[in-house]
Amino acid sequence: MDGLQDLAARLEARLSTDPEVIARCARDTSRAAPEGLPVAVVLAECTGDVSAALAWANETGTRVSVRGAGTGLTGGANAYDGGLVISLERMNRILSIDADDRLAVVQPGVITAELDAACREEGLFFPPDPASARTCSVGGNIATNAGGLRCVAHGVTSDWIAGLEVVLADGRVMRTGARTRKNVVGYDLTRLFVGSEGTLGIVTEATVRLKTVPEGTPRTFRASFARVEDAGRAVTAIVNGPADPEVLELMDALSVEIIESFHPSGLRVPGGAMLVGQTVGLDSLAKAEEIARTCVEHGADDADISDSDQLLEARRLSNPALNARGLKISCDIGVPVSKLAEIFHGIKAISSRHGLRVSSVAHAGDGNLHSTVESPDTPAGIAAADAVIDDITKLALALGGTISGEHGIGSVKRHELPWQQDAVALDVQRGIKRALDPNGILTPDRAI
Ligand SMILES: Cc1cc2nc3c(=O)[nH]c(=O)nc-3n(C[C@H](O)[C@H](O)[C@H](O)COP(=O)(O)OP(=O)(O)OC[C@H]3O[C@@H](n4cnc5c(N)ncnc54)[C@H](O)[C@@H]3O)c2cc1C
Repeated sequence: MDGLQDLAARLEARLSTDPEVIARCARDTSRAAPEGLPVAVVLAECTGDVSAALAWANETGTRVSVRGAGTGLTGGANAYDGGLVISLERMNRILSIDADDRLAVVQPGVITAELDAACREEGLFFPPDPASARTCSVGGNIATNAGGLRCVAHGVTSDWIAGLEVVLADGRVMRTGARTRKNVVGYDLTRLFVGSEGTLGIVTEATVRLKTVPEGTPRTFRASFARVEDAGRAVTAIVNGPADPEVLELMDALSVEIIESFHPSGLRVPGGAMLVGQTVGLDSLAKAEEIARTCVEHGADDADISDSDQLLEARRLSNPALNARGLKISCDIGVPVSKLAEIFHGIKAISSRHGLRVSSVAHAGDGNLHSTVESPDTPAGIAAADAVIDDITKLALALGGTISGEHGIGSVKRHELPWQQDAVALDVQRGIKRALDPNGILTPDRAI
């Protein structure tokens, strides 16, 4: 490509045209195929590398995809044909952990679970906890505003970001936010960039908030239900009750079967669904007992409590277990928690209407569901599965829900945007995009 040697001269070995590196960085974990192969990958080691690469791309009109760890499920990090990939994987240092202010400063490529583990050595933790925490990056979490298992207690990634360093599409570097608990200066640019899916700028440093690890032994609870609707009603009661779970997840019967056959751990497949979760704090046992009681009152066949988090590990395996069957999660709807029983009932009806089996796991306490359709990996099979997902998504919207609770839009869900957002809201977002990236080089035609 014309001018690529100029960028190579600036970045030296940090610009790779090695076919293996290109292939590895060309796609994320979604079922969306990349548009084609990029010409090169920038293995950025500092903010200056990102700035130089974006300035070059802006001048040459080269489309850029941004890659954290590539665990995204929407095609957001997929490469453009003839484009440039900017990878943040080498910017993976924790720069500081400040216990007194409960803040950490990190580079974007830090793996989420590694940040959490380092904070725990100081008696602190990083609350966002995606099921992919051992493989995804903090920068990717920020760009997708990731959720996860602990969100029912602590909120999503945006609640834990105090400030950012961002490189704009023309290579300029800016800082947002402050290290203070309160800060109301100007527009809230931090929140604008969180969840912008690599379309407005590249995050090169983040100041993240931390929480103190609660005292006491965490308790894990489990309850099995013959009817998934009853499990949904139990979740609604639990989140509106006093027990305050840190984790509250649901796996329907088919999901448990899929996970158990992938990694047997003695899980008994329930008739309808299983709730698993965790309570923390000095009163964790009393809270878990309260939750178990609520489950039985709402029709659970049995409920028990333990000190082991083996059940949560099983829940974390749902995506790998689906992948092992050649299935990929394609649905990330959210509904108000009061509508959980209705959405589960509706999913059963949609599944039987289409004659295709659907498994669902859910960050149930947040009303966030991932449903997967069992359908052959052929064009006709994928079209049939997509028709099921479309019906489930439209039902979620009819119940006051959302098309995406945590994965974002990327390319996979872009056709659903007008189902949820009005033309003015879409226009305003495209105006913001044009203001920050007038040449449309940074993750174009995705997310909005
Ligand atoms: C097994 C499994 C379980 C999962 N569980 C969850 C879950 O519980 N909750 C959840 O929310 N998600 C989950 N995901 C999805 C995924 O892990 C998240 O979306 C995660 O935040 C992506 O991080 P990443 O570093 O892999 O980003 P990537 O996939 O590399 O990129 C994701 C998006 O962010 C952009 N991006 C990445 N880094 C930057 C940066 N520094 N600056 C600007 N833009 C950037 C990319 O361009 C892309 O649009 C799961 C995925 C898997 C495979």
